[in-house]
Amino acid sequence: MLTQNRELIHGLFPQEIDLGNEPAYRRAQILEWLYRHRTRDFSQMKNLPVPLRTRLAEKYSAEHLPCVREQGSADTTRKFLWQLPTGDYVESVLIPASPGADGRRADRRTLCVSSQVGCAYGCRFCASGLDGWKRHLSAAEIVLQVLSAQSISGQRVDHIVFMGMGEPLANLDNVLKAITILNAPWGMGIAARNITVSTSGLVKKISELARQPLQIELAISLHGPDNETREKIMPINKKHPVEELIAACRDYQAHKKRRITFEYILIEDINSSQEHARRLARLIRGIDAKVNLIPYNTVPGLEWKRPNDDVCKKFAKILREHSITCTIRLEKGHDIAAACGQLRLQKFLDEKQPNAPYALKAPAKSTDPPPVGAPALV
Ligand code: SAH
Ligand code: SF4
Repeated sequence: MLTQNRELIHGLFPQEIDLGNEPAYRRAQILEWLYRHRTRDFSQMKNLPVPLRTRLAEKYSAEHLPCVREQGSADTTRKFLWQLPTGDYVESVLIPASPGADGRRADRRTLCVSSQVGCAYGCRFCASGLDGWKRHLSAAEIVLQVLSAQSISGQRVDHIVFMGMGEPLANLDNVLKAITILNAPWGMGIAARNITVSTSGLVKKISELARQPLQIELAISLHGPDNETREKIMPINKKHPVEELIAACRDYQAHKKRRITFEYILIEDINSSQEHARRLARLIRGIDAKVNLIPYNTVPGLEWKRPNDDVCKKFAKILREHSITCTIRLEKGHDIAAACGQLRLQKFLDEKQPNAPYALKAPAKSTDPPPVGAPALV
């Protein structure tokens, strides 16, 4: 990824950084400036010789991503809309832990990152694909979402989920490079087991992932326990029917010996009946799995609705009666917590209809000045 002919340095492995005639130990110094001090300006890298600083500045960019919109607040879920060097927009969501949730540390911070601009898979309930697919994100653009969110929030991110815009397994090379940098001790130092890749079910890529060494987590967007239900909402099911997807999950588990998460959005009158719950339990029997039930977040312009809380609770109860581990989030304030792609969608809608009822009312908050020409908030 180039910006004004300069390569984004955060997408490079150490050995890829061109030092000219400088000794190799300079790499460690540069990485420390980039990832420990989060320095964006090569001229500030005081222990490097000036000619090297100049050379790096000519060749590379160490800038973070400008945040053009922000929603939420410091102690709740925060959404950031980033402008990429190409002018495209993607978003990330910073999610603090609910205190003590699932017995986990209460101070953990999860960043939900995007892997593509738009999405080609066109799931009917999802905001990300509404505008079609535009391009893959580079490794640098993925790493920079994390670094930029840390800089703006002043909080260390220790968990990453690839559940923002895009299908990460369709961009596997760049995603794996980004994960390697996020995980590396010289990079962001985020434990691999704290990094989750979510997929709508790219079967061949799941088996590729099963055969590579990083010990990351896998989440499958299932959303339907049979072909008829799943096909209504996920076009990918025509290419890879449920049986093929589940076989890929079993193969993944045989290789990785790691628990898989199945994400299951509950949508009214589509996939949330008691019979759907029983079918789901049968489908995934024998897989070491957790089911994450997500009551649907409404998307402006889409017809789907979330079922009432009793329907959701009953669904979870049936799974538990079948000895399936599941979690469900029913609390209020869900509207910014999930459904990545919505902020970008909202911006798109605001521009088309500045007085639309769903237009953002909150003023932009960002430590970075908005780029020249950034659209005004309504
Ligand atoms: N493309 C990948 C990752 C991004 S989507 C995938 O599909 O897995 C991340 C998760 O958000 C998926 O489980 C997706 O189905 C879910 N999601 C999308 N739109 C949603 C909505 N409106 N409400 C709740 N979850 C949604
Ligand atoms: Fe793409 Fe995932 Fe949204 Fe489906 S759910 S359109 S695969 S981002």
